[in-house]
Amino acid sequence: MTLLTLKTIEDRLFTAGAKTIHVEHFFRTWVSMKMFNDQSLNYPKLVKEEINQLLDEMNNSAQIIQEEKDGEDSSKLIVRLQDGEIIESVLLPRGGLCVSCQVGCAVGCVFCMTGKSGLVRQLTDFEIVSQLRLARQIRPISKVVFMGMGEPSHNRRNVLSAIDFMAKFSGIGYKNLVLSTVGDRRLFNELEQRTIKPALAISLHTTSDEKRKELLPNAERIPVIEIMDFASRYAKNTHYPIQYQWTLIRGLNDDDQELDRLEKLWLGQFAIMNMIPVNSVEGSSYVRPDSDRLSVIEDKLRQIGVLLKYRESAAQNVNGGCGQLRARYQAQKDEANG
Ligand code: SF4
Repeated sequence: MTLLTLKTIEDRLFTAGAKTIHVEHFFRTWVSMKMFNDQSLNYPKLVKEEINQLLDEMNNSAQIIQEEKDGEDSSKLIVRLQDGEIIESVLLPRGGLCVSCQVGCAVGCVFCMTGKSGLVRQLTDFEIVSQLRLARQIRPISKVVFMGMGEPSHNRRNVLSAIDFMAKFSGIGYKNLVLSTVGDRRLFNELEQRTIKPALAISLHTTSDEKRKELLPNAERIPVIEIMDFASRYAKNTHYPIQYQWTLIRGLNDDDQELDRLEKLWLGQFAIMNMIPVNSVEGSSYVRPDSDRLSVIEDKLRQIGVLLKYRESAAQNVNGGCGQLRARYQAQKDEANG
């Protein structure tokens, strides 16, 4: 089965006789959920026919099959792709959307349900952008974070293509397109060379290189100091703060030594630290620190000038963090199929 990409759509429109202005108008209209008006730009007849055919295929490529609400502000969307694979997107408060970039993930973070399934396949740039269009069927979206299923640096080309598409056609600026990564030198090099850059989130989780091997077994082995040096340079160049992510696990990365090392590494950082007490995954022994320990960490980090936010993982109340709703959906499906 051939999956749709942004390039295929563009090529098919050009082959039918479209000019650049038609292609751009079509993309802008589609991703903004506006009614397509072929009168305004005098579309050639063959292009109109191709667009009708394409719209059918685009609609069939990604469909919401389930929405689980978490109060007024957030909900998880289960999206079925053309080949039957399932991904998750999450509607976040204040117009945010968290998108997936892979089916499954190869990094294998010990606290993550998605990591347990390994990598199933990459999403195309079109499938990534489609999640924005689908979310806009439900409500306006003004910020997109690439923190759903998958590691963006492992699908770098399609993720950057989707980011460029969103920045060009969706009305969302680069500052509100947040690329999240566990750290990858090829991604860092590419980001440094681009003139227009998205905001960056780094999944750090510990200041110890050794513990990183344990927590993120298949992430590229880059010393923490190198990751944070890059992040500091990037934040200064872009003028957007880095958003560090740290999943807090009792007895593993919530100790005083971590906080002491973080104090030293934080010098010169233009950044926010998001700490997320671990959300227990089925069969896992990892537990979150108790509330007293969370208060101690908060006090210590504030004293040393770390701008800290405690968060729950996206849509925590609708079956937990990344990958868990998909896992439950798959289990139900397998059960139904006997
Ligand atoms: S937390 Fe992110 S990088 Fe780690 S396994 Fe899950 S999806 Fe992959």
